[in-house]
Amino acid sequence: MRMRNKPWALDFLSEHKSFIDIDESHQLDITSRFKKQQPIHLEIGTGMGRFITTLAKRHPEINFVGVELDKNIMIRVVEKAIEMELDNLQLVLLDANHLRDYFNADEVSHIYLNFSDPWPKNRHEKRRLTHKNFLKQYKEILKVDGMLQFKTDNRGLFEFSLEHLNNFGMKFHEINLNVHEMESPENIRTEYEDKFSSRGNLIYQLKASF
Ligand code: SAM
Repeated sequence: MRMRNKPWALDFLSEHKSFIDIDESHQLDITSRFKKQQPIHLEIGTGMGRFITTLAKRHPEINFVGVELDKNIMIRVVEKAIEMELDNLQLVLLDANHLRDYFNADEVSHIYLNFSDPWPKNRHEKRRLTHKNFLKQYKEILKVDGMLQFKTDNRGLFEFSLEHLNNFGMKFHEINLNVHEMESPENIRTEYEDKFSSRGNLIYQLKASF
């Protein structure tokens, strides 16, 4: 996702520190940022945040954390969180390569990856968010019965993910090759999902545990 650089982005984000951590000051302490102590669900690569803000509104009994590395994009998520008055959502400006330093072991119940960047070139394989280097981190921060949920329109990335999760010994709970056929009311269409499905692309989803 490309978004024009906003020189004021960090100033804006730092004015809203009740919603967002911009300098990892709550590393290993994100749980204490929530009013209620309840399960934590994490989305990695929120983009503009429609998915996580909608989910947080629907599920006040869950605490949500959204991780995104681009400060310009994160502005849009913060704006939504303010408008929707969400007190069960915290945002973190972070590269997912550092997840394990940020979250405690067994702290998270569910991880969502939505339309992650496909990085189609082989030499960029390690940047894919379902590469085994990321899976190792997810395994550590997820609770024993925690779930990884991944949705994409990218057939190549979906096949790569099925193969790599399987090689990692993960257990599949759902493999859906057409999410929009008999779409569940639980499905929240992300900004990218709308864009790609309007072009006629199929939407794939899997759910798996370690
Ligand atoms: N999930 C959104 C959606 O479905 O509309 C956005 C999808 S967009 C293709 C991927 C997003 O993941 C971008 O906003 C990008 O900045 C973010 N991202 C990519 N790699 C990341 C990483 N290593 N850590 C955190 N965010 C990342």
